[in-house]
Amino acid sequence: MKGTFPTHKFRELRTPFYYYDTELLRETLAAVTGEIARYENYKVHYAIKSNANPKLLSIIRESGLGADCVSGGEIRAAVKAGFPAGKIVFAGVGKADWEINLALDYDIFCFNVESLPELDVINELAKAKDKTARVAFRINPDVGAHTHANITTGLAENKFGISMQDMDRVVDAALEMSHIQFVGLHFHIGSQILDMGDFVALCNRINELQDRLEARHIRIDHINVGGGLGIDYRHPNRQPVPDFKSYFATYAKNLRLRPHQTLHFEPGRAITGQCGSLISRVLYVKQGTNKQFAILDAGFTDLIRPALYQAYHKIENITSEEATETYDVVGPICESSDVFGKAIDLNKVHRGDFVALRSAGAYGEIMASGYNCRELPQGYTSDELV
Ligand SMILES: *Cc1c(COP(=O)(O)O)cnc(C)c1O
Repeated sequence: MKGTFPTHKFRELRTPFYYYDTELLRETLAAVTGEIARYENYKVHYAIKSNANPKLLSIIRESGLGADCVSGGEIRAAVKAGFPAGKIVFAGVGKADWEINLALDYDIFCFNVESLPELDVINELAKAKDKTARVAFRINPDVGAHTHANITTGLAENKFGISMQDMDRVVDAALEMSHIQFVGLHFHIGSQILDMGDFVALCNRINELQDRLEARHIRIDHINVGGGLGIDYRHPNRQPVPDFKSYFATYAKNLRLRPHQTLHFEPGRAITGQCGSLISRVLYVKQGTNKQFAILDAGFTDLIRPALYQAYHKIENITSEEATETYDVVGPICESSDVFGKAIDLNKVHRGDFVALRSAGAYGEIMASGYNCRELPQGYTSDELV
């Protein structure tokens, strides 16, 4: 089954561009807010890095979610979209001084701190402003996620977070600092995780760490388990809204949350992934040796995931119903990695056909680059194109 698109509207637009189905986005957000309403103390912060298109951000903000930022630019984008500062969290392994100052000026809810040197700097900068920074420590739980090696973040070998062995030391340091308020622990084990067992492993690890803190009479009010819930790239129409019910239930069942604690989540991909498609025109159909190429006007400058992570995106010819043929679907960029898919069955392709690369709402438009002096793709919503 193909997705449905307003192709008559597409004819007026310069390709490639991103098309966002806002009805699906709203449905996805309703699923999230509906599920967390079943639990008293769950809070969700949308991971802005997956897609910072202002039109999407304002819909996400309207749903009541907070924002998870990983840079000063993202904090600005969140504030601009109307996310209250009290619902903004800020992670990142290399926060620059100006970014920390910006976050202090806005008085964001919490810094997710990734090292002792960073904690020192936050304390100093907060002191200079006579403010107190709320901090959670991002602990690297040494839990593997069954996902692509480039998107695991919770293994000891990854650059992220503070090791479990160092947790007590940094907590002690924080408790000594005049302009730091230690409020909790933060985790994020990776992305595109579909095996709930990975989240169970994280819960078990958090339970151990909590017991360790409690044995030392250290109380924390916030646990943040990051994001990572995956989507079905192979079948974007089968389950367009991810299974948030099982996701939250996994935490409810396995994490021993104390009654006074709030549990925070930071999904990105699971919220924006399925609502977006990259729409491209076919420039040429070229006969190669033993194969044929569909050459698109979109390249990895518009959607880098296949080149960067060998990621799969379902590809559809949305303007042809003719019998299928097999193509290597490629872009125009002068790099051999500029390939969206090999041996893909598509309804017979002609110059000028529209091709949709599905499930491209997360880590698509936001990762676009100007390599080859190409223009950045625009993003349009279904609201705009009715
Ligand atoms: C990237 C990231 C997320 C979101 O990850 P998804 O896989 O898109 O849900 C959440 N938290 C942190 C700290 C991140 O770096």
